[in-house]
Amino acid sequence: MSLLLESIKQSKPYLYKAFSSIEDGEQHLHNIIELDRYWERLKQPVQKVILPSGDLPKDVVISGEYDLIYAGGTLSLLHAAVMAGKYGRKVMIFDRKTPAKSTRDWNISRKELLNLSAIGLFTESEIDSVIVRQYKNGWVEFYQPDGSQKRLVMDSVLDCAVDADKLLGLAKKKVQAASGSTIIAGSNFLCCYQFDNHIVVKIEDHQGKKFYYRAKVLVDVMGILSPIAMQLNEGSPQTHVCPTVGTIASGFDDIDFETGEILATTGPAETAPGKGRQLIWEGFPAEGEKYITYLFFYDEADSPNDKSLLALFETYFRILPEYKKPGNVFMIHRPVYGIIPAYCHDGFDRTREIADDHIILFGDAASLGSPLTFCGFGSMVRNLYHLTGDLDRALSDNNLSKKHLEKISAYEPNVASMANLMKYMCFNAATDDPNFVNDLMNEVMIVLDDLPLHYRQAMFRDEMKIEELAIIMLRLGWRYPKVLMATWEKLGVQGSLGFLKNIVGWAFSPVR
Ligand SMILES: Cc1cc2nc3c(=O)[nH]c(=O)nc-3n(C[C@H](O)[C@H](O)[C@H](O)COP(=O)(O)OP(=O)(O)OC[C@H]3O[C@@H](n4cnc5c(N)ncnc54)[C@H](O)[C@@H]3O)c2cc1C
Repeated sequence: MSLLLESIKQSKPYLYKAFSSIEDGEQHLHNIIELDRYWERLKQPVQKVILPSGDLPKDVVISGEYDLIYAGGTLSLLHAAVMAGKYGRKVMIFDRKTPAKSTRDWNISRKELLNLSAIGLFTESEIDSVIVRQYKNGWVEFYQPDGSQKRLVMDSVLDCAVDADKLLGLAKKKVQAASGSTIIAGSNFLCCYQFDNHIVVKIEDHQGKKFYYRAKVLVDVMGILSPIAMQLNEGSPQTHVCPTVGTIASGFDDIDFETGEILATTGPAETAPGKGRQLIWEGFPAEGEKYITYLFFYDEADSPNDKSLLALFETYFRILPEYKKPGNVFMIHRPVYGIIPAYCHDGFDRTREIADDHIILFGDAASLGSPLTFCGFGSMVRNLYHLTGDLDRALSDNNLSKKHLEKISAYEPNVASMANLMKYMCFNAATDDPNFVNDLMNEVMIVLDDLPLHYRQAMFRDEMKIEELAIIMLRLGWRYPKVLMATWEKLGVQGSLGFLKNIVGWAFSPVR
């Protein structure tokens, strides 16, 4: 038995038992501990990883030269495959682990996935080959003690389970097939040096050997742990977070394989000191007999609550039977986990830093996706067309300064405005009744249930129009005036002004 697993035997008995039974349990535990370092990093002085050209040692050997170097090998593969395949750019991707291997799976609708064939990345049959299951419909439901909760049913929302590694594997093959492009595993980003007309990236392999590469642009796709995002945003790269854990497992009793459970709560918030959180479940049928369950909560990045994935996993395994009952042949195939990032912009437009000279951030490193239902994968699928086309144009025109690159972003004014709604779902033990989040969200479900189907689909697919949100908010305020008091408590003056600015920015945006 491994030492790392043994070290949690007493403190996390449920997690210990579950991870002892799975393949690579030790490696997953290691990954989780690595992700949990995020919480310590938020408190530490910001490490400088973007350095001036003068700091580059004079005698370095440049091992290769590329148009684009991608640090991080997950969503980067989709972008890089288009840049290499469609635009003929010479790209390099490196990852400190194995590129194209994710610690999560994705849900999306088929219509949205078809964006990837519309831009020529995959054929329709390739897209269908990564959809491991499609459901009839899905629902959202928030606990009411008297059982009166409204179950909001919808179709064509998050109704396809995608095998993330298979999808990324297809993109990886396309990058490898492009002449001059390279993918490197097991290499850690250390820092980069900005020159007037290029950037030099320093990486280190598992043996500690350092290498230097030159590129026109460094694309930072290192996810929530990105040290570049940390430096550019002065140590506060996220305003909110959504720690998420779960499993892909089989052998539950009574599973409905035709329906996705998009959001579900089974009780009020936990109110213990340092643990004020409303836990939320998701349940999605996957390939064959497999079923994915997630447990997560929304919180402010700097709240005093324990947000560690390790502690959340212990809770997950302890309370899983309250949500889905493991049967006699229950088996965990793989754990899934991560910290989903969120950023509330205090302005009429994007306020988060997502670029610098010869540097651009995509995916979770840019933190522009909505944490409400869709996250970074959905955001990348929706925005890939212009994120690739615009970057190719910038390369051709040699417009690679911060001023130009920061215009190439997945910022969507509707998503930015909707992200404010997440603040209502961050439970605060000091001000909220234990069932506060459930009561409010149950009212939102009742309002949506009274409106045409399109409203709920738009809300849960990040496609909301401003007039639709206005109707929902007016109806909610009329039905449930407590939301006004909640706005005061949750958002305060600063937050309410920020929300208003987002809405005004949305109203005047060309993409309403
Ligand atoms: C459990 C779970 C379920 C999800 N489900 C959905 C969903 O259904 N739909 C949806 O739209 N989104 C979903 N998301 C969100 C989605 O998975 C993320 O937005 C997406 O994975 C972000 O991809 P990324 O490439 O930006 O970052 P990541 O996936 O975090 O990848 C970052 C990569 O960078 C590498 N890296 C980090 N630091 C370094 C370094 N110093 N040097 C080299 N490499 C480095 C890492 O090893 C990693 O491979 C889910 C997230 C979780 C946690």
